Amino acid sequence: MIHYSNCPVCKSNSIAPVFSAKDYTVSNELFEIWECDHCTLRFTQNIPLQENIGQYYQASSYVSHTDSKEGPINKLYHVVRSFTLYLKRLIVTGNAHVAKGSLLDIGSGTGAFLNTIHHAGWSVAGLEPDELARKKSTDLYGITPGSPEKLFELKNSSYDVITMWHVLEHVHQLHEYISTIKKTLKLKGVLFIAVPNYTSFDANKYKELWAAYDVPRHLYHFSPKSMKILLKTHGLVIDKIKPMWFDSFYVSMLSEQNKSGSLFIAFLIGCWSNVIAFFRKDKCSSLIYVIKKA
Ligand SMILES: [Zn+2]
Repeated sequence: MIHYSNCPVCKSNSIAPVFSAKDYTVSNELFEIWECDHCTLRFTQNIPLQENIGQYYQASSYVSHTDSKEGPINKLYHVVRSFTLYLKRLIVTGNAHVAKGSLLDIGSGTGAFLNTIHHAGWSVAGLEPDELARKKSTDLYGITPGSPEKLFELKNSSYDVITMWHVLEHVHQLHEYISTIKKTLKLKGVLFIAVPNYTSFDANKYKELWAAYDVPRHLYHFSPKSMKILLKTHGLVIDKIKPMWFDSFYVSMLSEQNKSGSLFIAFLIGCWSNVIAFFRKDKCSSLIYVIKKA
């Protein structure tokens, strides 16, 4: 178990508990969520060690790993995923410094995003911890990702774009990842990090029931301010912030499920969260940070 005495992002010791959240997906265990007074990061306290966290990923409902299509939420997830793949492609190709280049996707899952980018004419590579997902990526798309440790063996300045779609919040070696990613990116390379945003309307509404806390799998719960401070520490800057509109609905649906609530209420909360995010993009349920070297 890891107990933080200092903030995992800024090292401040001005940290305090906010509330306890339940692991609704696998274990039903409670985990405390703490907040840093300095950088505003929230983080899961007393997390399992990296070598022990695997047991918390053993659930057929963990859709990003199993590609399950059972149940209405998983069905909707797959329809929306096709559209979000298209949006991600537009955001990546529209903000990269080259028309066609090389892309590394960290946490590439079953390879759907890599396949999309490959078809747009890019050379692609992936890293994925889950062995089953790696095999599926090979079977489905002929793209075989490496295991995540390979990140630390990559040559400096080897990629035009690096992407992490809802992955950074799962990574124990937070600072090692960011510093290595910076080295691995070319000088004008662009990094895309998508993470949930606990400062969103839906997060404030659901509090400890907010599904994107997803303890203990989500180790960090970023605010835009904490992300900015983390990146600045490593000589990186946020160029743009892009909202992920569908996540407001998806996360609200999962959150209602946590309290046996109604899908209609989830739809209304998702709508209202997006109305607010329309005027304040940094208030969306999930955000894509478009990042460059400082
Ligand atoms: Zn902090």
